[in-house]
Amino acid sequence: MFSKRLNNLTPYVPGEQPQDRKYLKLNTNESPFPPSPEIKHFLENFDIEHLRLYPDPKFSTLRDEIAACYGINREQVFIGNGSDEVLAFSFFSFFDSADGKLIFPEFTYSFYSVYCDFFGIEYETVPLTRSFQIDADAFAGRGDACGVIFANPNAPTGVFLPFEAVSNLLDKFPADRVVIVDEAYIDFGGESAVSLIEQHPNLLVVRTFSKSMCLAGLRLGYAMGNEALIKALFTAKDSFNSYPADMLSQKIGEIAISDRTYYRRLVDEIVRNREYLSQALDESGWEVLPSMANFVFVRKNGIPGETVYRTLKEKGILVRYFNRRGITDFVRITIGTRDQVDALLDEIRQCF
Ligand SMILES: *Cc1c(COP(=O)(O)O)cnc(C)c1O
Repeated sequence: MFSKRLNNLTPYVPGEQPQDRKYLKLNTNESPFPPSPEIKHFLENFDIEHLRLYPDPKFSTLRDEIAACYGINREQVFIGNGSDEVLAFSFFSFFDSADGKLIFPEFTYSFYSVYCDFFGIEYETVPLTRSFQIDADAFAGRGDACGVIFANPNAPTGVFLPFEAVSNLLDKFPADRVVIVDEAYIDFGGESAVSLIEQHPNLLVVRTFSKSMCLAGLRLGYAMGNEALIKALFTAKDSFNSYPADMLSQKIGEIAISDRTYYRRLVDEIVRNREYLSQALDESGWEVLPSMANFVFVRKNGIPGETVYRTLKEKGILVRYFNRRGITDFVRITIGTRDQVDALLDEIRQCF
């Protein structure tokens, strides 16, 4: 009854969204702030008559808005149902084991290996450096690989690979193999690689509305790259689902991407709270990896991450730990409002 394809899958497990009680949720890197108030205004005035029709399968207006933001053109932008779907179409379109293995960091977004299994792409992981940096040099020399993908800032570490290192990797990597930079957290302080897409037709930069834009519930993501890459992604999408982003998502995305002043303020607040939490944890004897994201990756001598997770959960605070050798003593904590950070610090100081 079930295909062999299906039986061989081990799905990605997203952070828990428990419904049993009210938690302070610092486990899935959602924003603690509401999305742009312009969206509320739009929804209150939306005429449901519009929903009679199918949405624009080319996402024209939304792609124009995104393109305008980055000084590129519509043909260099692709839209998907969350960046997860953009990534899935990218894996399908660009990576083929006949050309070698896909390579990515040993510790990075754990969906990458799941997509490899889904699409039958062989992969190899490259260890991080001792300071949990992505080892860009180790990737640069791998002309035998069918492609590269990494998150920058990386997840779950939060560590940012400097722009020069990304640029250098692209200079050295074969120009006919795609390099995907997953910039889900780039707005929280890193420098984007998007300025390199003109120079490197094999570079795809993937983004999401879920984190800095406070729209995880909407499911909207995008990719930026050379026209040929974007065309390929449309071929994949149009062979699977013409309308992965519905009419409301497209409209809301347009409004959000245009309200830069609002989001600038929120991002600044998250960055301030991140620095505040990092310093406070450091002073309490925790090791805090330097983060450029909306979360920190931290550990305290001798305490397993799972223990930290369980203890805090009992206190009504959710954080994330990873049952993977090499990072079992860490927990990943999403940055909340200042009050939420203070509540977390109170519990941590009492418990550990
Ligand atoms: C959150 C996240 C995504 C997924 O984002 P969605 O747009 O919500 O699907 C992709 N990559 C990384 C590294 C993430 O942290």
